[in-house]
Amino acid sequence: MSNSLKILPWGTFVRSTAILRRISGGTLKLIVFLASLTWGLETLAATTNMNPKVVIVCFVNDHGEILPAAQTNKVVKPDAEWRKLLTPEQYQIARGKGTERAFCGIFHDHKKPGLYSCICCDLPLFSASAKFDSGTGWPSFFAPVAKENVVSHTDNSFGMRRVEILCARCDAHLGHVFDDGPKPTGLRYCLNSASMVFKEKKSAQK
Ligand SMILES: [Zn+2]
Repeated sequence: MSNSLKILPWGTFVRSTAILRRISGGTLKLIVFLASLTWGLETLAATTNMNPKVVIVCFVNDHGEILPAAQTNKVVKPDAEWRKLLTPEQYQIARGKGTERAFCGIFHDHKKPGLYSCICCDLPLFSASAKFDSGTGWPSFFAPVAKENVVSHTDNSFGMRRVEILCARCDAHLGHVFDDGPKPTGLRYCLNSASMVFKEKKSAQK
């Protein structure tokens, strides 16, 4: 902190003003634009941090393309309502942090192109283009459609230290993420089929 209070040497000031004079009007506008953008994003993030009822996530358009991050309301429902909306298995896994048996989920060997969304709130989570055969018996992905859409928490249950992954919009339990995945991320997002719904799209990412 004390560094910010130091007075700049005169030579540094002269060099700085000389650099500023050489900056063209267009460059200056670009700098102002980037500064405004940064300020806007920070404000958006600060707003979200102050209000736990909103979250910043990425949606997709009709072509399956990821849209810029945007603020939306968190999806919060009473437990009784989740029970009505989900099958007993979906409820036990997505709301009760359960795990389906290996090789038993409907998506572990599913290869169609499209998007996997949250079973509870329909937020897009994973693209088929990031799916790979991990041999574990659970649908596995090396990355989510957008880092904003999946949040992670340390999970120390069952005597193991794992990283749980949840839907950013409704806190549905999705599975866990491990660091033994393939390139380009080296991560393995290990999912429960019951936590997701699949939407096949002709124009979805290949
Ligand atoms: Zn969700």
